[in-house]
This record gives sequence, structure tokens and C-alpha cells, in this order.
Amino acid sequence: MDMSRNSIDFSKNPYYQLFLKQRSQQFKIGNMPYSQRIKQLKKLKTAIEVTYRDRIIEALHKDLNKPKVEAELTEIYPIISEIKFAKSNLRQWMRKQKVDTPMSMLGSSSYYIYEPKGVCLIISPWNFPFNLTFGPLVSAIAAGNAVIIKPSEMTPNSSALMAEIVANVFSEDEVALLEGEVEASTQLLQLPFNHIFFTGSPSVGKIVMSAAAKHLASVTLELGGKSPTVIDNTANIDKAAKRIVWGKFMNAGQICVSPDYVLIDESIKERFIKACRKWIEQYFTNTPKTSDSYARIVTQKHFERLQTHLENAKSLNAKVDVGGEIEADSKYIAPTIVSDMSDEASLLNEEIFGPILPIVTYKTLDEAITYINSKERPLALYIYSNSKRNTKKIIRNSRAGGTCINTNVIHYANHNLPFGGVNNSGIGKSHGFYGFKAFSNQRAVVKQHTFGINELLFPPYTNFKEKLAKLTIKWF
Ligand code: NAD
Repeated sequence: MDMSRNSIDFSKNPYYQLFLKQRSQQFKIGNMPYSQRIKQLKKLKTAIEVTYRDRIIEALHKDLNKPKVEAELTEIYPIISEIKFAKSNLRQWMRKQKVDTPMSMLGSSSYYIYEPKGVCLIISPWNFPFNLTFGPLVSAIAAGNAVIIKPSEMTPNSSALMAEIVANVFSEDEVALLEGEVEASTQLLQLPFNHIFFTGSPSVGKIVMSAAAKHLASVTLELGGKSPTVIDNTANIDKAAKRIVWGKFMNAGQICVSPDYVLIDESIKERFIKACRKWIEQYFTNTPKTSDSYARIVTQKHFERLQTHLENAKSLNAKVDVGGEIEADSKYIAPTIVSDMSDEASLLNEEIFGPILPIVTYKTLDEAITYINSKERPLALYIYSNSKRNTKKIIRNSRAGGTCINTNVIHYANHNLPFGGVNNSGIGKSHGFYGFKAFSNQRAVVKQHTFGINELLFPPYTNFKEKLAKLTIKWF
């Protein structure tokens, strides 16, 4: 019988042999020098940027009707820039980090090192299949781990191509990609990984965290939720509309950091809607269905979910201000703006993840802040305002994974910033150094060089030592 360290029998798990193979290699992989890790990253870069670039664009078109420019900018570019960033900084990240040692430990010195966690699992979603699979993989490789990846079953062309890329670039004991349905994730989650990096919905995030708890595996949970966008009465309305329409309708709204809903000062609502109508036409013409720049909904199930949201809102008095057209056969939903629905509308209570933008009005900024805080803590909170006072007030009285002021979505693209949510929208951070850190254990090391002053306090505990202990508390 094949038993793990904690006496659970994994012998029937179809992925256990692969897991064991990777585990047996973890120190070899972890001890690869800087140059070897860079070599791995360069191989991945060449595969994505050169060898498979056209096929990646083709797979994304088949799965999501993703426009070519969007595929280049939101799938290929983020992975390449993550690799470049890691290449420029990895030597520094891998250095031992010296820290001060207190006087009470005189005679010793201290440092910490970032050591690989070991064997890691990456579970990724469908909305940016390449970016959200290979992005975390870059961090995992930079940190020196072996990795098993389970991409989404919703985008089969992308997943099949990623399997081919991984098999051509890496050996199976370093990185393996397993295609499969939810059952494959369930089986993988039973194994005692050292770290699990999950990107997906909060509800599945809870399943992942419970599975991780069985082995006390650490987790990074990159989740979603409702990201509010506040527009106050000092904002530049046209610029806000220009950027919000871009951020909301890119990838047909299937973006974790897309503005989920707008909270706007009631005095400027109509002007904002008019400006949005103008920018939608500018980006996608007045028949977005025929535009090459507009994506489709990923599956029939998600199409029906969004259709139900729209019907529910209409039944609760919603006014369709822009769009509203749908076509089941092509899974098309026009860029849509709705307002005036009552608070219980599902659009105002569930993550939308599609091209429908509900608008909620407020009379005072306090009212807007109370509304935001009545919901789960968001992945992103956007503020459009020319008032420093209002901006500061919103930031200080709310919590969110990230915030953009007078823009949206682009905080995702700065590798110097930690990316991730808070509570319901996520646990842990990714990108750049924060991604490297997520896949590393900070190991603390103290080295004793000479006689240690602390040894004066070793037993037996005489009166003299009691006095010394008191002096230590007082002076060190
Ligand atoms: P999802 O949670 O349904 O699925 C994500 C992954 O989990 C897939 O690989 C899927 O196979 C697997 N999975 C699904 N159900 C499972 C289960 N019961 N047990 C184990 N594994 C399971 O999410 P999705 O629909 O692919 O993606 C949309 C969600 O992801 C949204 O909530 C969105 O906000 C979020 N998201 C977050 C980020 C981020 O960086 N924070 C990025 C993209 C998407």
C-alpha cells in the first residue's frame, strides 16, 4: 500500500504517481542555479512569443472569439512581461537577505532565504486562459518549484494547446499540465501539495481552501466578486465613460477586475450614459455584433446565466439604457447598460462577469460608501473624481484588493504592485516579486559565531539569572 507522510492512502488517485515523480525531483529543481531557472523561463518565452504565437491567437478566437489585438495585449504580453520582469530581478530575489540581530542575541547573525515551496498546484480559469495559467507558472518556476497545472475545461482549444506547449518546453517531472473536468481538480486537490495557486470564483475558492486545510498546504486564492466604480460629481464624465466602456466590455466583460457596477452621483447619471453610448459606438460601431473588436460569451451556460440576470432586472423595473440585444446561437450579448432596478436585482448582488453594466445612483458620498461596505470586499474599487478629499475619503473608508483613480483595470499590468483580493475576493498576492514570494518559503536562519550572550540565561535559574532576565527585559 502506498502511504503518504500523513497516513492517507493515495494509491488509487490517478495523479499520485506523477505527484511522487515531481516530489522526488523537488530538491534537484529547487537547487537549480539562477542561470538554469532563467533558461527555463527563456524557453517558455520563446514558445509563447515565437513558436506558438499564431496558434495561441487562433485557439483564443475559437474559444472566446477573442479579437487578435486583445489576445496579443491581454494574454501574450502579460506573460512575456512577467518573464522579462523575473529575468531582471531574479538574481536579487534569490539572494540571502541579511537582517539586523538584536543585542540580546549578541554573538550571532541573521538572514533569511526564499526557498521553493516544493510541488505546487496551479488551477486556472477560462477568461484569460493563457495569461492566468502561464503567469503564475512564471512565478512558480522563478521560485524553483515543480508544478502540476489544471486549466479550465471551458476553453478546450486553449487548454489543449497549453498542454502541448508544456509538454514541449518542460519535462513532466518539472511541469505537467493535466486537462480535465472538475473531477480532475477534485482528484488533484486530494494530494498533499506544498502550495496551491487557484484563480477562479469565490465559491470554488472555498472548496480549494478546505482541501488545502487537510494537508495544511498554503494557498494563493485569486478570486472575483463585484468591483464597484464610483463616479462623483467632480469627475470628468467623458474620460470616465471612455475608460469604463473599455474596461467593462473588453473580453465581453469576462474579466475579474472589470468594473462590475457603477455608483454615480445622481446629478450626472444621464450625461454619463450618453457618453458611454458614444464610446460604445466608437469602439464597436452601432452594430457591435459585426465588430471584429468584440468578444463572445464563453459557453451556452454562461450566456443563459447572463440572460437570466437581464430578465430578472427587467422584471424589477430596470431601464435598458444602452444595448440589450442578445443572440443565443452565437452567444452574443451587446454592450448593455441598465439602470433604475430595485436593490434585490441579481445584477446588483452576484458577480456579473459579462457585458452588462448596472448603474446605481447616490445622493451623498457617504451613501455610496455605505453601499460598497454592505457587500463583500471587492477585488478592485475604482474611483473617478477630481476631488482629492473625496478620493481619500473613499479609500480610507473602504477595503479592496486594489484601486485605480480615474482609470480602471490597468493596476493589473504593473508588476511592481501586488495583485490580489482581500477576504471574499482573494487571499495572497501575485505578480512580480509578490508572485515569487507566493511560491517561496521565507526560511529564517540564525548563525552563532562566538559565545552567545543569551547563554548567560541558561539554567539553573539562580537569583543572579533572575536579575539578568529583568535587566534583559528592561534594556534589550
Ligand atoms: P471557477 O471557479 O468556476 O473555475 C476555476 C477553475 O476551478 C477551473 O479550472 C475549474 O475546472 C475548477 N473548478 C470548478 N469547479 C470546481 C470544483 N467544484 N472543485 C474543484 N475545482 C473546480 O471559475 P471560472 O468560471 O473559470 O472563472 C470565473 C471566476 O474567476 C470569476 O469569479 C472571476 O472573477 C474569477 N477570476 C479571478 C481572477 C483573479 O485574478 N483574481 C482572474 C480571473 C478570474
